[in-house]
Amino acid sequence: MNETSSSFISDNKQLQFKKFITKSLVAGVFGFGLMISAGVGVIPEITENSNFWFTVGLLTSFVMWFSAREFFIRAWIALKRHDTTGDTLIVVAIVGAWLYSMFVVFLPSFIPPLAQPVYFDMVAIIICLVNLVLAFEFHVNNKVSHAIERLTGLQTKTAVVIREGIATQVSTQDIAIGETLRVVPGEIIAVDGEIVEGETTIDESMLIGESSLEKKSPGDTVIAGSINKTESFLFISRRIAKDTLLSQIIAMLRRPQSSKPAVSSLVDKTVVFFVPGVMIISLITFVLWASLGITFGVNEPMSYAIVSALTVLVIAYPGAFKQALPIANSVAIDRAANSGILFRHVETLQETSKLDLIVLDKTGTITQGKPDVVAVHTAENIDVTELLQAAASVNVQSEHPLARAIVLNAKEQDIALNEIAQFNAISGKGVSAYIGENIISVGNDMLMKDQCVDIEQFAESIETLTTNGVTPVYVARNKQLLGIIGLADPIKADSKAAVHRFIRKGLLVVMLSGDNKDTTHAIATQVGITQVIAPVLPEHKVEHIEKLKRDGLAVAVVSNDVPALVSAQVGFALASASEQAFESADINLMRGSLCGVADAIDLSCITSDNIRKTMLAAFIYNSIGLPLAAGIFYPLLGVLLPPIYAGIAMALASFIIINHANRLPAFKQADG
Ligand code: ADP
Ligand code: MG
Repeated sequence: MNETSSSFISDNKQLQFKKFITKSLVAGVFGFGLMISAGVGVIPEITENSNFWFTVGLLTSFVMWFSAREFFIRAWIALKRHDTTGDTLIVVAIVGAWLYSMFVVFLPSFIPPLAQPVYFDMVAIIICLVNLVLAFEFHVNNKVSHAIERLTGLQTKTAVVIREGIATQVSTQDIAIGETLRVVPGEIIAVDGEIVEGETTIDESMLIGESSLEKKSPGDTVIAGSINKTESFLFISRRIAKDTLLSQIIAMLRRPQSSKPAVSSLVDKTVVFFVPGVMIISLITFVLWASLGITFGVNEPMSYAIVSALTVLVIAYPGAFKQALPIANSVAIDRAANSGILFRHVETLQETSKLDLIVLDKTGTITQGKPDVVAVHTAENIDVTELLQAAASVNVQSEHPLARAIVLNAKEQDIALNEIAQFNAISGKGVSAYIGENIISVGNDMLMKDQCVDIEQFAESIETLTTNGVTPVYVARNKQLLGIIGLADPIKADSKAAVHRFIRKGLLVVMLSGDNKDTTHAIATQVGITQVIAPVLPEHKVEHIEKLKRDGLAVAVVSNDVPALVSAQVGFALASASEQAFESADINLMRGSLCGVADAIDLSCITSDNIRKTMLAAFIYNSIGLPLAAGIFYPLLGVLLPPIYAGIAMALASFIIINHANRLPAFKQADG
């Protein structure tokens, strides 16, 4: 975003804020002016000059139109949805007060003389206070859009694309998937992709909110909005336009936070029934005062009935704490976005705070997902080249990280690959294909078993490899074992710290892998995980997750596997995840680190804790305020809360509640 449009937005907001203040001032000057003049007696009594009071009534309706028409509109919109909001309370209160007052002006003889005061001043003062609250709320909400502006500023306008061997500057919108882009030092990366040439240091701090300089080399992912620090490099675009992580975060932040959560928890139910409940209390208050007022020695029951009923409506306004929830949620989502965490739905925040168990993939989640050939053992009379040639030739067509590593290794050793035919990928087990007359199988022990290949001769080497966290891949030709290739996938630097954080939060941690049991166990032990499910065939992953859910656990999954992500209550996809995984996850992370998952969980716990406390504050306020406003203490103490005080209490409580909802305590991002 350029200077002008961003300042336009803030100008616009400034204007909005001023509008609230103006409305508040107009209503305030009128209301307080009227109250004071009546108090000191510079204006006539109703009985003395009803024309004067009729004019005052008209002026009040002008104030209602000028300063409160939005309340009417919003209350009407809500009503059409069969909903009630804080606006409904205010509208009922001011319309009720105004109608009663006009009635008194026109037909004073119908009302007992003692119950005659009019409430035009109160109507205006309430409007003044509510506008003040709204101005404050607006101000608080606006701070939220800072992340949008900051992130929008990271979207580049142009980028350099290599087309037909020539470097061309193009508009970022014109970049297609699969194009090669060149990035020089100091430049912001335009789209998401994968480095193909060159090594550099990338600064992602603008996206993830903490200083982060990462060395990146071919095969590593880069994301739009990060800054190239040291060297030029080439990368291939993988996610473009609105699909980049950055664009998705911005889109999420722009979405209005009005999505109505399902009525499930007690809090939700309270919110839904709160306003109608208050109106019923107000009505009961009115009826009780009107009928029983005399019994309590009140001379003007009608007047008391009206005042108490209206005071109930006014005092409950902030308790229409519907505002507190969206504010707390947007603050959290904004904070998350600043830390490179994208919550795709507002509801996910709450769910994430209630997790019991977290299922982690091994490859690419706990490990880097970049295996490397570390050992080759051949059978008798077979040489290493022959083994690698067979394995690599068959695996050229496989997308599996192990396959890529084997092919890369063969290429590095300048081993020429053979033509293959009838390539066949066996899910969760490996691959097979023909080289000439010979059938070659490359895969795990299950594949060998299926094909009746005897692997006994390597039992000892296998044990050494697996207990060290190395994955053995068997290579067989015509059911004769040629040898094994050991591949090691290094564990990410902070996986152990992240697992430690999960455990300390009281989460159960389970590792799920298609890899063999011993290797998986070895890796699990290294990061401090005790529960392992392995080997799991891809088609059985979901069954395991469903089973955990049936046990009554709230399950999160960090994976690259779409069905697994979908079946979990909360699915996390790391920055390195595939496009589809990204789409299916509930939370996307800009970082490839599991610490981002721990941060997301911490943040949602803090948020729901904040919401709980806000709700509690609103509950306490209402439990004291409502009876006070209704006049329950009158028979005991002889005091009735004047409506103006109720208005002031309402405004103060609103400030406190909104401020509390907005002030999300910092969450700890560091590990340990
Ligand atoms: P994961 O994603 O946990 O690694 P997969 O289901 O993708 O699980 O793979 C399970 C196992 O199958 C791998 O650990 C490997 O032993 C074997 N395998 C799958 N595809 C290949 C392949 N192309 N080459 C060699 N081994 C393979
Ligand atoms: Mg896999």
